[in-house]
Amino acid sequence: MSNYKVSARKYRPQSFSEVTSQEFVTQTMKNAIISGKIAHSYLLSGPRGVGKTTIARIFAKALNCADLKKGEPCNKCNSCEEITNGIHPDVFELDAASNRGIDDVRAVQDAAKFFPIKGKFKFFIVDEVHMLTQQAFNALLKILEEPPSYLIFILATTNPEKIPATIVSRCQRFPLQRIKINEISAKVIEIAKEEKIKIDDESVFLISKLGDGALRDALGVFDMAVSFCGDNIKYSELKSFLNIPDKDIYFDISGFIRSSDLKNILIYFNELEDKGFDLQTFFNGITEHFRDLLIVSTTSNPNLLDESDSFREKYSAESKNFTADQLQRLLKVLFEAENRFRFSSNQKILFEALLAELCTLNRDVKDLSDLISEVTSLKKKSLIQNDAESAEIVIDKFTPVSDIPVSSSENSFSKKNDSAESEIPDSKNGKPEAHKVKSKSVVKKNSDKTTVKETIIIEKLKELFDVVEYKTD
Ligand SMILES: [Zn+2]
Repeated sequence: MSNYKVSARKYRPQSFSEVTSQEFVTQTMKNAIISGKIAHSYLLSGPRGVGKTTIARIFAKALNCADLKKGEPCNKCNSCEEITNGIHPDVFELDAASNRGIDDVRAVQDAAKFFPIKGKFKFFIVDEVHMLTQQAFNALLKILEEPPSYLIFILATTNPEKIPATIVSRCQRFPLQRIKINEISAKVIEIAKEEKIKIDDESVFLISKLGDGALRDALGVFDMAVSFCGDNIKYSELKSFLNIPDKDIYFDISGFIRSSDLKNILIYFNELEDKGFDLQTFFNGITEHFRDLLIVSTTSNPNLLDESDSFREKYSAESKNFTADQLQRLLKVLFEAENRFRFSSNQKILFEALLAELCTLNRDVKDLSDLISEVTSLKKKSLIQNDAESAEIVIDKFTPVSDIPVSSSENSFSKKNDSAESEIPDSKNGKPEAHKVKSKSVVKKNSDKTTVKETIIIEKLKELFDVVEYKTD
């Protein structure tokens, strides 16, 4: 029989201090052990692969340990060794995913009746407890209502909301967190060192990322990487082995999008598709890429990204090619397409349409800030150079806006009157008609400083806005 052990098992933490992340849970448990305040049932909830059963076993080990050290099991005594090897007679593990019926819980009920054989406590570690049937939950509740003093239940679940409230209320709850990518990376580096395996930074990040918050999953990818690459894991080999798109591909894609290069983005996409990439992974990758660009663009802090240093530098550079508004628009389109994409029967066509939309999106939309600065510069130009033509453009642009832009103290106009609505005669038949005046300002000529061309502007402005003056005259 082979002695090979997968890394997740070989490097499974054997004491609270070795558990990655989850300090809140491990510290509380240690305190409980030291103070002797032990509850009869605990509920550990959290995503898969974050250490729920590992913590449950360490807890059982510590409570039955013959040589407890500040709340930590010694891992040397007979009891510790038996629990590590899964052969301790007082520690039972039940997988509720496959043993979910009333008979399984009755077996637990029967076993619970007897005193522990070796240790002080008898443990039932129930994994995926939310999978139990209603009857099984009822039977479990009966034990939890009046547990014998030696009995401890540690329930673990990925779906705490599916557990009846009657059970939950009898448990001490410990929510476990997803493990952060840098914590997973640190563990991968540590194990690689231990196994004398050379691994580059990019590979560490890739493996950690694929773990998606679960250390066990990341270590699974690490084992695969070792079997493929041997004792020298290189990013270039790893990414082709895993057949996932290279990060650089996303930079190429954002390059096509920013230059609105529809033709080449479609050619590029089809080449990638021929390589057999999973389109969902690719879609998620593009979304994450623009999210990363938005983070760097708005915070100017690439260290917030779960990336290696070389990619952080790339993100810094690329983020300067987009405004935050542009990135937000691109992300909005991607998010809106997410569900359609997931359930589409033809992802390829949808993907092409989506890329086309992303490519043209920012070309067709002008940023409001750009428009404002354009108008401002036109305004300045018309006033400084007395360019009547530009002035008319200014006037046209400002027609729907409530304030007349030139009525500040710097130029030759002054405010007069404050009426918002008035009646003026229709220019053709002389009859008065209701006329809503958007602007409260009324423009009046200051004859001292006004040039001929300014007069044209003023006349034009008056034509548009100076209705109140007409009335008062
Ligand atoms: Zn021990």
